[in-house]
Amino acid sequence: MSCAAVLLLFFSSFAAPESRLLKGYEVDRGEIGIVYHRGWQTWRGEDMADFVERKVRDVESILGRELGRPITVVLTPGRKELHRLVGQVVERRPHDNLQGLALPARDWIFVGGEGVSGQAGRPGVAHETLLHEITHLVNHGARNSVIPRWFDEGVCMWVSGNRILPQDEAYLCGLAHVGGLFRVRQLETEFPRLHLLGTIAYQESQMMVSFLVEEHGSKILSNLLSELDAGKDFGRAYEDQTERSWADFEAQFFRWLSGRRNLLEVIASFVNVWTFIAFLGLIAIFRSVLRERKLRRKLEVEEKAAEEGDVGVVSE
Ligand SMILES: [Zn+2]
Repeated sequence: MSCAAVLLLFFSSFAAPESRLLKGYEVDRGEIGIVYHRGWQTWRGEDMADFVERKVRDVESILGRELGRPITVVLTPGRKELHRLVGQVVERRPHDNLQGLALPARDWIFVGGEGVSGQAGRPGVAHETLLHEITHLVNHGARNSVIPRWFDEGVCMWVSGNRILPQDEAYLCGLAHVGGLFRVRQLETEFPRLHLLGTIAYQESQMMVSFLVEEHGSKILSNLLSELDAGKDFGRAYEDQTERSWADFEAQFFRWLSGRRNLLEVIASFVNVWTFIAFLGLIAIFRSVLRERKLRRKLEVEEKAAEEGDVGVVSE
């Protein structure tokens, strides 16, 4: 989900959507809870409640942590419908890139259908978003736990199998080299709403979670979540689980990230189509300067020749 803008909101006053809000939706009920859906299909042709339950079991198995309660899932046919529903539920205009929404306080999930990412022909994007949103609910096992936003989003992206492209990773490495990444404390609560900055925040969060997994194994994620469930703050939970200083985490992460790609890859990641256009622009300016200089030289020569001619005329 390279341009994911998946919101996580705690909307304590949220009440179950009225039936008019979900008019035209099919309803499947199962052990996992209730699934409202329109326009969704599974390749197995299975019941949607079974489909969602399978996804929940996938998340539980990857994360090693159980959801343990019924949930309500709304699968919309596309982005427009998703935004209509979310806009009414949270009573504010959703972000343009919104693909899904989790409301852990109410155990609700909204996910836009295929094509919602705008990447037509790429299958499974909506399924990845569904996994992402389910993971939010699994993360918030104890609803009073305070989970740093970067950790919550990073775990969701890691569990849902989001792939960071090599050039994107190289770009993050470059930012780590020049101190251009977000500080961990800047990603505690809100993420930037600007698309590029938001994408960097999500990808950096995923890389921090990958760093944790690489250093301590995947069990560290559920262990940390359990510590947060018990009311610990993240820094204390990290120190208890890893026997490392939380104060050193950020520097260690930046060092790990900046060493993941070589300099050539980093430079290449900064040379995108805009830098290419800028390069062509520079060449055009350079050529125009050369042309102007040549013209000026030619005029000077002609002027000099004319002056010498004048002198000649006078001397006659
Ligand atoms: Zn999310």
